[in-house]
Amino acid sequence: MALVVKKFGGTSVGSIDRIKVVAKRIKTDWESGQDVIVVVSARAGVTNELINRARSLSAVPSDREMDMLLAVGEQETIALMAIALQSLGVPAVSRTGPQAGIVTDFAHTRARIRSINGGDIKERLAERNVVIVAGFQGISERGQVTTFGRGGSDLTGIALAAALDAEKCEIYTDVDGVYTADPRIVPDAQKIQEISYEELLELASSGSKVMQARAVEFAQKYNVTFEVRSSFNHNTGTIVKAEAPSMEDVVVSGVAVDNNQAKIVVRNVPDRAGTAAKVFQVISEAGVIVDMIVQNIGHEGKANLTFTVPRDDIYKAEKAVKQLYGDEVTLSAADEIAKISVVGIGMRSHSGVAAAFFAALAETGISIQLINTSEIKISVAIKPEEADEAARAVHDAFGLGDQPNGA
Ligand code: ASP
Ligand code: MG
Repeated sequence: MALVVKKFGGTSVGSIDRIKVVAKRIKTDWESGQDVIVVVSARAGVTNELINRARSLSAVPSDREMDMLLAVGEQETIALMAIALQSLGVPAVSRTGPQAGIVTDFAHTRARIRSINGGDIKERLAERNVVIVAGFQGISERGQVTTFGRGGSDLTGIALAAALDAEKCEIYTDVDGVYTADPRIVPDAQKIQEISYEELLELASSGSKVMQARAVEFAQKYNVTFEVRSSFNHNTGTIVKAEAPSMEDVVVSGVAVDNNQAKIVVRNVPDRAGTAAKVFQVISEAGVIVDMIVQNIGHEGKANLTFTVPRDDIYKAEKAVKQLYGDEVTLSAADEIAKISVVGIGMRSHSGVAAAFFAALAETGISIQLINTSEIKISVAIKPEEADEAARAVHDAFGLGDQPNGA
């Protein structure tokens, strides 16, 4: 029998009514002969609510207890889903992450999976049970409950599909796939039929949150093909898989907007070897991820360093630099910026993408503050109020709205 792993996110199982709808859908697939493993998230909002409760008791709750607490969210959903299926006449059993043999390292709240033996899942499937597994959680080699970081149920779904050699892995969410741009910003955005892991990762790091990045990295490492699709309709979704030669025909796959960045300018840093190394060392030690960086040409032994960080990390980044240089340097008030990125593996074999990108912005009168490129991505920093217009102009310039992409 074909083994299928189906992962349902928080909004898909957000209420009793939603759980009933999903249970019916699972029943249909099970009746058609599929062997089904269901992975579920906590109901939408539950994890945040649990975090808030802990914070109302302590500003710094211990990571070990946070894992104990947050694992509860998913445990509620597996039991409710099993009960819903049983009430439809479908034999179903729930398993926590530890019961499914998902063994992790000791890094509470951000644990990494070490191994999965599946517990008794295979036996239960052989008896034609639907097996429902709690996402986002595992057990450390010392027997402690651990969790995988926010959005970690995606990782459970992908990792189980890899470990149990599933034929298919379906990630059900509230959008029906990966789009060429956010349809709320770009009305003629198209659903992408197929996309490579790398492109999805670049889109995610550029502000298009469809899935947890670690889950996509895991899928890439173990070559798990999966489909991102909606639990709210029956449309086909987007297939995410290893790069195929035909994918290169599409030069740009998508446009992403990240409205959560800020630009920091540090003036008068010493213009000598090792300065940038020191600055970015202290910033990274503060746990802040720097994205774009520009250092201008030095002048009288001093230089200016400009870089972008997530808005929430402005304070941490500034504090780290001040501790390093004190009054020697001046920090500008951090400027909010938006990052617009175009992503596509076709960029490797096509030239002129940057020129077309910048021309589209120039025609709209949008000025670029910083530029960053990788092999398959070009990003620019612009004013946040111009982000939506920029995304539409760039989407148009690359013809992404014209025809279904990836066809
Ligand atoms: N419940 C966890 C979270 O909200 C894991 C997940 O939903 O994937 O982050
Ligand atoms: Mg989720």
